[in-house]
Amino acid sequence: MAADGADATVGFIGLGIMGQGMARRLLGAGKRLHVWNRSGESAAALASESDAVTVEASPAAVISACRRTYLMLSTPEVCEAVYTMDGGVLAGVSEGKQLVDCATLRPEDMASLAERVVARGGKFIEAPVSGSKAPAAQGSLIFMAAGDEATYKDAADDLGAMGKASVFCGAEVGAASRMKLVVNMVMGTQLAAIAEGLALASELGLDGGDLQKVLDGGAMASPMMALKGPLMAAGNYPTAFPLKHALKDMRFALGIKGALPLPVSDAATASYTAAEDASLGDADFCAVMEVAKGAVRPKL
Ligand code: NAP
Repeated sequence: MAADGADATVGFIGLGIMGQGMARRLLGAGKRLHVWNRSGESAAALASESDAVTVEASPAAVISACRRTYLMLSTPEVCEAVYTMDGGVLAGVSEGKQLVDCATLRPEDMASLAERVVARGGKFIEAPVSGSKAPAAQGSLIFMAAGDEATYKDAADDLGAMGKASVFCGAEVGAASRMKLVVNMVMGTQLAAIAEGLALASELGLDGGDLQKVLDGGAMASPMMALKGPLMAAGNYPTAFPLKHALKDMRFALGIKGALPLPVSDAATASYTAAEDASLGDADFCAVMEVAKGAVRPKL
């Protein structure tokens, strides 16, 4: 269904692993897109697929052209750079512009970005996502959002095109990032545990397929095990969620744990750290399997 009025055109900044799929979902929902990406190839590739895509020369040009813009950049450092550079995001923000930042950052990073957007008259929500490359392409992400509720409501159709569910965590920017970091802490520890189970089964001469069958048949059944288990067992895991980003999120979660000890998450973080130290940061986070197998040693 084609979108109407001011919301028929939206902006998208950051066409990486996640952003490409999300932008295509918006196109599929009938939106016209103004896009910017640091390296031109992914923006040009998107434009070659559809006349509804306009590639802009700067983030500010995207924001200027659209009432609402989505951002899917990688890290706090990258967001800071893209917001503040010449022709950056902040330079494009004026009264009433709506920004929906979907990156996984620390709560204080999001709060700082929001503060500067609002100071220029803009509206801001953070909207980090659960789900990876395939859910982004299929429109089955889960959004956790916080900030300006009117913007959240205005963005409902877009979020519905990119995701299967969304949870509004409140008006305080940072609340959704906290939720997202808890989710990724659980995910990171779960995958590290699955890797260790597969490694131990292999060491004991057990069949990985049988292990999968037993786990899948009982209370421990997990889509994560079903998706990643066979890839890890085969040692063949194309990058959907780079290990460096999984480690970023584990570290951010440990950074907001306060007085809680969280020893399991601590140990899992040490495994991801060891994998990154072994130059596996750009591999999928399944590469934690190399630590489970003993090919890479964590510093505990
Ligand atoms: P990504 O592919 O590594 O990069 C995202 C974007 O950041 C790309 O557009 C990239 O531009 C841009 N970027 C990187 N360095 C830059 C720089 N120095 N200056 C300007 N732009 C730069 O990341 P992703 O996997 O899409 O993830 C995006 C965010 O979503 C992250 O915060 C991640 O933690 C979170 N997330 C990821 C997943 C997942 O499964 N992948 C799932 C949920 C949430 P280039 O194309 O030019 O490199």
